[in-house]
Amino acid sequence: MKLLVTGGAGYIGSVVAAQLVEAGHRVTVLDDLSTGHADAVPPGATFVHGSITDPGDLTGYDAVLHFAAKSVVGESVERPGYYWSGNLGGTLALLDAMRGAGVGRIVFSSTAAVYGEPERVPILETDPTRPSNPYGATKLAVDTALTTFAALYGLAAVSLRYFNVAGAYRGYRERHAPETHLIPNVLRVALGERESISIFGDDYPTPDGTCVRDYVHVADLARAHLLALRACEPGVHRIFNLGNGTGFSNKEVVDVCREVTGREIPTVAAPRRPGDPAVLVASAELIRQELGWKPEHATLHDIVADAWQALLP
Ligand code: UDP
Repeated sequence: MKLLVTGGAGYIGSVVAAQLVEAGHRVTVLDDLSTGHADAVPPGATFVHGSITDPGDLTGYDAVLHFAAKSVVGESVERPGYYWSGNLGGTLALLDAMRGAGVGRIVFSSTAAVYGEPERVPILETDPTRPSNPYGATKLAVDTALTTFAALYGLAAVSLRYFNVAGAYRGYRERHAPETHLIPNVLRVALGERESISIFGDDYPTPDGTCVRDYVHVADLARAHLLALRACEPGVHRIFNLGNGTGFSNKEVVDVCREVTGREIPTVAAPRRPGDPAVLVASAELIRQELGWKPEHATLHDIVADAWQALLP
């Protein structure tokens, strides 16, 4: 297939683009490099430096895999307009260009942030969506737009709601600036680049008082996109959670990082980070049953080991 991968110079987009090239697809990456890296575009993919707000003529493409987005929760609280115009406005422009060119298939990078503070875990796709920050709200708005476009125009759409993505694939790893995610920051302490890791909150209603998250390996997550692409049906918008269904506390994550790296990793107790739900764990039963998705790296040890390998010189 001829595929457009928006945001394919970012962490997840680059891994998906690499897997699509390996699977024999013709891949074009569209990325404005606002947060991505040109050297993360995999060999074999064509790179177009540009924005989803003006994607150009998409005639000839069979489908779009849409990752390009602003994704830092704290920044979204400070600059909501920037997030609404980038994430929702940008996606509407992309959908318009797709319609104009007769491109009828999209796989969208959604997020567990659409659920906000859950009433229960594991979270099902049918559970209430009450995002607790503008980032989650913009992603939910895109999900809603996709449902409408599927019903109105026959668009074939799949949204994948990611829980916590980590690990690396063929050297493609997290390279955010600033890095806000737990695992890359903990590993930076192991590398000696930071003195300690701050643990945000130790008084949550969890077994050890720190937040619990569901980690999924980026290679497993990426494979789900290839399955989703095949499962797209005209006029239908399907939504799937993507996680392992197991939670690890922030303290447990640090322990696994100590085990994997064999290094000391000092921690510092810090105040809670605003907007962090205590526990986020996915039910990924739906995608397992309907698309046959099965993670190959389901242990946190494997996930961290791959992230660590990719960081080592
Ligand atoms: N976290 C932390 N210290 C850090 C970064 C993150 O304690 O330097 C915590 C964060 O408060 C949350 C968990 O680690 O409880 C996962 O955060 P991350 O930003 O990796 O992902 P999120 O769940 O926000 O998508």
